[in-house]
Amino acid sequence: MLTLEDVSATIAGIPVLRGIRATLPRGATVAVVGRNGAGKTTLLRTIMGFMPGHGGRILLDGQDLASVPARDRARLGIGYAPEDRVMFPSFTVEENLRFPCEVIGMGRKAVDERLAETLTIVPELQPMLARSGAALSGGQGKMAALGRAVMAGERLVLLDEPFQGLAPVLAQQYSASLHRLHQVRPELCVVITESNRSLLKDIPTETLVLERGALVHDEARAAAIH
Ligand code: ATP
Repeated sequence: MLTLEDVSATIAGIPVLRGIRATLPRGATVAVVGRNGAGKTTLLRTIMGFMPGHGGRILLDGQDLASVPARDRARLGIGYAPEDRVMFPSFTVEENLRFPCEVIGMGRKAVDERLAETLTIVPELQPMLARSGAALSGGQGKMAALGRAVMAGERLVLLDEPFQGLAPVLAQQYSASLHRLHQVRPELCVVITESNRSLLKDIPTETLVLERGALVHDEARAAAIH
């Protein structure tokens, strides 16, 4: 369970997140929708520990993340796919997938098992494994970023605008992967940000609406964001 208690953040002295309160239960898929600049990326970056000095508390299954540096959050089972696919270009796709698990010191056998499981969830990655991280198209990069988030994300997976710019076929594959992810890890909490809510139509989600850095719990407003 992910709990956000009065989470706030500023960038260059300007409030970007304001008093975010939410409880995301285990097994939930939660969409955070909001217009460009609403603060969606900043919210995920704050949960990942990239916004030191933020206000409020973030708890994962009751553990306050304040004392856990960003580099150690993968150890807690948090996976993150940033909006701009960030594959290491000098690594192969397989090395990129293994990276978050290796960096936290998981043993070879455990990483092998995690990779095998990830490939059942995102099977499109299998034929890409030996390719360079630099050689992927935008859509393939998004699938690989999902795979990397799944590798680390045993308890919580954060996906930043995953459907933006995805061709319809890839969007279908991505949605199918999210369905399989939920079947394989029914306790997992998934947070997906989107500015275009209609892109999430195939995915059953709870919806939180972010407006100018504050949450507005209003389904009608969520439906109005296109
Ligand atoms: P988008 O859909 O465009 O990615 P978003 O909802 O993810 O938008 P954020 O990227 O979190 O929004 O940005 C929230 C606010 O913070 C915006 O007003 C943005 O201009 C501002 N902001 C973000 N990063 C910076 C930065 N490095 N310097 C200055 N302002 C920033």
